[in-house]
Amino acid sequence: MAPLIAGNWKMHGSLASAAALAGAVRAGWQARQGAAELLVCPAAIHLPAVAAVLAGSPIAWGGQDCHAAPQGAHTGDIAAPMLADCGARYVILGHSERRAEHGESDVAVRAKAMAAAAAGLRPILCVGENEAERNAGQAEARVGAQLRGGVPAGFAGDIAYEPVWAIGTGRTPTEAEVAAMHGFIRATLRDVLGAGGAAPRILYGGSVKPGNAAALLGLAEVGGALIGGASLKAEDFLAIAMAARG
Ligand code: PEP
Repeated sequence: MAPLIAGNWKMHGSLASAAALAGAVRAGWQARQGAAELLVCPAAIHLPAVAAVLAGSPIAWGGQDCHAAPQGAHTGDIAAPMLADCGARYVILGHSERRAEHGESDVAVRAKAMAAAAAGLRPILCVGENEAERNAGQAEARVGAQLRGGVPAGFAGDIAYEPVWAIGTGRTPTEAEVAAMHGFIRATLRDVLGAGGAAPRILYGGSVKPGNAAALLGLAEVGGALIGGASLKAEDFLAIAMAARG
């Protein structure tokens, strides 16, 4: 599969600015035609506007979360079939901000991943240790537990390794640390999904910028990037995408 370059627009923008950003990404990608697969994940309420701009382009759009139930009395939540109805092909699940701010457990993330798959969406399941866990030598233990608890049998999605302390901070692990963790994640996934299971792409996320993208995306087992801040600037997002080799 082509490397996936995914933008998480979080809770930013307006209808007009989201459509304008999508338009700039579309026009810029058409001019460049890189090897990566591109995805943008705007706020759910902006999805129809972004979908209208990106329809007919190779750029996918997706959600930032979904509920585990396909419908029901869940005030304020978004069901996976609703995202699919907006033409979404992907959904980010278990982002560290959702885990921290909404208390999402691995069990909840697993249920959401199953709901996403049932709706025909491809989940991007986020894992990652916090700074105290890394300093204590517990990074692999934390990520391993998140994978074993959060990845359902038959998982056909992607994983995003996002060290919590690298998100929005301008700090990143060393290349050796990223490569080691991605190798660990691949080995754990083989164990969790079995030898015949699908091989998810393993994206790196956490302060990816145009200046560090080529080095990070060139590492073994790095199958793309999940990008927050830099995805809000079309030129930066596209520069990162161009650093990905097919
Ligand atoms: C993120 O929130 O998923 C993320 C990677 O953010 P940033 O690129 O801003 O560190």
